[in-house]
Amino acid sequence: MIRVGWGAATATGNVRRHNEDAVLADPPVFVVADGMGGHAAGEVASRMVVEHFSRLAGREDVEPREIGRVLAAANDRILEAGRRSPESRGMGSTVVGLVLVTDDGHDHAAVFNVGDSRLYRFAGGALEQVTVDHTYVQELVDAGSIGPDEARAHPERNVVTRALGSLRTPQADYWLFSPEPGERYVLCTDGLTVELTATAVAAVLADCPDPARAAEALVRSACDAGGRDNVSVVVVDVLAPGPP
Ligand code: CA
Repeated sequence: MIRVGWGAATATGNVRRHNEDAVLADPPVFVVADGMGGHAAGEVASRMVVEHFSRLAGREDVEPREIGRVLAAANDRILEAGRRSPESRGMGSTVVGLVLVTDDGHDHAAVFNVGDSRLYRFAGGALEQVTVDHTYVQELVDAGSIGPDEARAHPERNVVTRALGSLRTPQADYWLFSPEPGERYVLCTDGLTVELTATAVAAVLADCPDPARAAEALVRSACDAGGRDNVSVVVVDVLAPGPP
């Protein structure tokens, strides 16, 4: 399996009373989820997502197709909880994940997302956004109606067009990578990207070789910049192959 180092951090921020984000960093699975819904429903939904993915933890033989099954199971669980209790109706969660998988004897990193939590790839000092947000604002960007800077400040930037817990079958996007040593992957909720530009994120990543410190520094920087939302970050470093 691909060797990795990792770190995770999450904070409630300076405005919200509860942290509705949930994180999982337990090889071979790394997940960030951002819950939504009234009362405590958001917290419950994001925790359900993380609980389902934690079933893959500790395994060295996860196949890419298993990810879709976990997403479907988490989606069913959230829908069922919403049906059972009126307070939970309408609850949902985003998810972004990276799972180290084996496919036909080859090692890969599988990336997937639903909603506006993101995954970035950081290599050679350059930060590249891999996932595409499922948001109304992203649709405006795709249509050429607004630019990326306007998107970050748009009043409707929180409107997601896909989430777990809304449709019977979740609609995720998938990518498969062959990671190279030295690459770094960053998973985050929108609480990070609403506060920090890509340039600011890249500067913190370049400053912190240790993945745990990098995750903590990013969360701290987002809180220092305003902390208007919950903020969660998982950093995964691809290491050179070596003894197990
Ligand atoms: Ca959020």
